[in-house]
Amino acid sequence: MKITVYDGAATIGGNKIYVEENGRGVFLDFGMNFAKYGKYFQEFLTERGGRSIHDLIHLNLIPKIDVYRKDLIPSDLDVSTYPKLNVEAVLLSHAHMDHCGNIGLLNENIAIVASPISIAILKALRDASQTKIGSEIAYFSPKAPQGDGRYLKSKSSNYVGRKFVCTSEFSGDLVDFVSSRPGTKRIEAGEVCHISDAALPFEVRSFEVDHSIYGANAYIIYGDVAVSYTGDLRLHGKNAAKTKEFVKRSRDARVLIIEGTRTSREDVNESEKTVFENCLKAVEESERIVIADFSPRNFERLETFLEIAKKNWKRACYNAKRRLHASCHRVR
Ligand SMILES: [Zn+2]
Repeated sequence: MKITVYDGAATIGGNKIYVEENGRGVFLDFGMNFAKYGKYFQEFLTERGGRSIHDLIHLNLIPKIDVYRKDLIPSDLDVSTYPKLNVEAVLLSHAHMDHCGNIGLLNENIAIVASPISIAILKALRDASQTKIGSEIAYFSPKAPQGDGRYLKSKSSNYVGRKFVCTSEFSGDLVDFVSSRPGTKRIEAGEVCHISDAALPFEVRSFEVDHSIYGANAYIIYGDVAVSYTGDLRLHGKNAAKTKEFVKRSRDARVLIIEGTRTSREDVNESEKTVFENCLKAVEESERIVIADFSPRNFERLETFLEIAKKNWKRACYNAKRRLHASCHRVR
């Protein structure tokens, strides 16, 4: 087995780790590297959408490999000189952008392996977002070259949906959800199947783990050696027992690939329960509006503040446009 870290070493997220054996391989996540993007872009300043992956390649924000959607390659970019990888799937740990944010650029025949919850979140994200290429994970608008082919424009044809491989049982509702969307354009949906029915290059076992977003998975891949991949995991949330179970099952793995963001910090030991108690006290002591500001996809924190709002007879309002705020108004 050969493991290549194309991105994600010595940085938070941005993981693009390629695991290959006998000429077939999978990526462990294919996320956005926020540190690299932040050198050039912020807020509304982004790559030029009409140039597709041109800017991302030239600014070194995505690796120079031949794995990207053909319709995203402008005429002045030659990817044929880059190493061509035989990628069959991305094992997605969870739906945070630093783990999934560049999947939309990958060849459409590359399946996404993920929990049904992560798949539903990816679909909802795409429904609710504008048509930036980075957000086109669950489905995308194929592009067509304009003029001399350097500028690429979305076609008016139907959307193309990705293939999804669910790591646990899924319902017909999920299939319906990924196959339809509001508006006039239809989705030509990809196949949705269970992992036991997918012909992946390796035996893959998935484990639910504790993280701030719902649906987080860790994986163990069995090739000539067993490789354990954690994605992001925690021990202080509601699903800590699941993380512990994964740790136990990882003991036999010869290789461990783990996020190191906070492994060396000893000062972080507050549980979500402590956050709840401290914030509840602050809200109880306040007379007027309380504004809670936290990461937009920290669903556990959202639940924490909903519970606090209920306890205080306050009403929760959300601003989901750019960042999510839960603000609670005292009802007198
Ligand atoms: Zn995360």
